[in-house]
Amino acid sequence: MEIKPGITVTIDPHRCIGMAKCTTAAPGIYTIDEETRKAVIEHPDDATIEQIFAGARVCPTQAIAIHQYGRRVYPQIVPPMPGDKK
Ligand code: SF4
Repeated sequence: MEIKPGITVTIDPHRCIGMAKCTTAAPGIYTIDEETRKAVIEHPDDATIEQIFAGARVCPTQAIAIHQYGRRVYPQIVPPMPGDKK
């Protein structure tokens, strides 16, 4: 999802474990979908870059990835998740 010109944010549903830390770090921006129990971005037009990064930084599984003009700027390292294919 493009948040600002050139800045896209993705939430990997495979990595998101619904801990809701992102919703605490950036309330009103990240929220938990009641059906899927995964994080979603609720108000992308209102989100600031700081809020997007705040949520991404507290995510324990690095489910939130931020790209700038196609290049990943966060997280720098994406650790493997249990169940990932090697
Ligand atoms: S902090 Fe990470 S794992 Fe927790 S709900 Fe947000 S995106 Fe999902």
